[in-house]
Amino acid sequence: MATALVWFRNDLRLDDHPALRAALEAGYTPVPVYIHAPGEEAPWQPGQASERWRQRSLQALDLDLRQRGAQLCLRHGPSLPALLSLLQQTGAEAVFWNRRYEPAVQARDARIKQALRAAGHLARSFNGSLLFEPWTVQTGQQGPYRVFTPYWRNLQTRLDQLPAPWDAPATLPQLPMPPSSLPLPALRLSSALAWDAGFWQHWQPGEAGAREALQVFIEGALNGYRSDRDRPDRVGTSLLSPHLHFGEVAPWRIAHRLQQQRNAGSSADIDAYLRELGWRDFAHHLLHHFPDSAQQDFNPRFAGFRWAEPAPALLQAWQRGQTGVPIVDAGMRELWATGYMHNRVRMIVASFLCKHLRMHWRHGAQWFWDTLVDADLANNSLGWQWTAGTGADAAPYFRVFNPVLQARKFDPNGQYIARWVPELASLPVPARFAPWQLPADARPPGYPANPIVDLEQGRDAALAAYRDSKV
Ligand code: FAD
Repeated sequence: MATALVWFRNDLRLDDHPALRAALEAGYTPVPVYIHAPGEEAPWQPGQASERWRQRSLQALDLDLRQRGAQLCLRHGPSLPALLSLLQQTGAEAVFWNRRYEPAVQARDARIKQALRAAGHLARSFNGSLLFEPWTVQTGQQGPYRVFTPYWRNLQTRLDQLPAPWDAPATLPQLPMPPSSLPLPALRLSSALAWDAGFWQHWQPGEAGAREALQVFIEGALNGYRSDRDRPDRVGTSLLSPHLHFGEVAPWRIAHRLQQQRNAGSSADIDAYLRELGWRDFAHHLLHHFPDSAQQDFNPRFAGFRWAEPAPALLQAWQRGQTGVPIVDAGMRELWATGYMHNRVRMIVASFLCKHLRMHWRHGAQWFWDTLVDADLANNSLGWQWTAGTGADAAPYFRVFNPVLQARKFDPNGQYIARWVPELASLPVPARFAPWQLPADARPPGYPANPIVDLEQGRDAALAAYRDSKV
């Protein structure tokens, strides 16, 4: 029987796997392979939290393959020589994979596809991650979208064209002599720093974990999602972002499952959720069409903006959740403890860094990149540029989040703050939002007595810089 490599990347699942399905439908025995080549993703090689997740997800994928009679072959990069050597070892004639959209990875994949074809192999790639790929959605002028609302209007008219989900076969054909694999630890996905030890009580990486998270969401937080998605004190969202990033679930499966709930649940909640999947597609659309947007201000008018001089002590206080602003510290500590932060709080901490401290969004994006389990170049770049006001379809720079008002509105009982900043848990609720307003002797010990920046002065300085730069 002819053989084909199925090259797994950020599509660590077996259901809804277009590359695997195509290999099987073409009559090939698939050889599942994962190649670790982080340097090829520079300057955005995966951060530490991502790599910890990946290690567990690869383990889960290998188990799922073994239950079907196959196994995952692990190799070290560079990717092209690794593929060529496996093609030779297994006698395979083809390579199938699902596409990625990060600029460095896209360029690498194009080179690999060309080289494989030049060497006489069949090389085919598929959409495994998005509802609609970036080049399939165009404005009336045949260009890319820069604004979400018309983009989403366009996408909504096509949701009925999404593929129906499909399950992987119960057994997979297997080579009589599967190629040798590196042991997983040889990929060195985790370093000695064990800060992630507490993550795994919150997460189950892998396809089974993704399936479970989707089910829990459908039976729980989906009902009320439209309003509760902004409440960090509740479980009001799906927590599917790392599973989506690593391709442990296909977005069209989620969309399909949600559409099936139309009669059972509120359509407004379902529409609100589909819209977020739309934002995810939109982020990939922007990154594909504007590949510099992961490091450069999307809006060129910010080129002359007066960002503050880098201040390592302030940046470190932000990273460690020691700014003295409770909702900011709660978010940064949630991130450190779980590898995740609620979306509303991501916006608050990002606004605080870019506006109150006036640091360039790249400093924050880099920290998120290293510490988020869902770190995703497209979503992270869009989120930071949106909040900083430098993005394509961004919040205006002059709209500065007031972290005290945000906390009062979205964490009204101060529960989220109390959970992540236990120094404040014994304060009466109103004091948790701005403890510096208490008399000096009533302020909780062990917590900064004052914010690292006066909130009013920080806001005024940001607005002045904005006016001066004539952005
Ligand atoms: P849900 O509310 O359940 O949303 C469902 C899915 O939709 C998410 O899993 C995600 O894939 C997608 N989604 C939701 N909101 C957005 C959004 N604003 N933009 C793009 N896609 C979205 N998301 C990441 O996946 N990776 C990142 O690195 C990332 N960095 C961010 C940085 C900043 C500064 C901000 C403001 C947002 C960032 N986001 C990022 C978007 C968002 O915060 C997370 O996707 C969301 O919090 C994940 O939780 P959830 O799965 O429970 O979301």
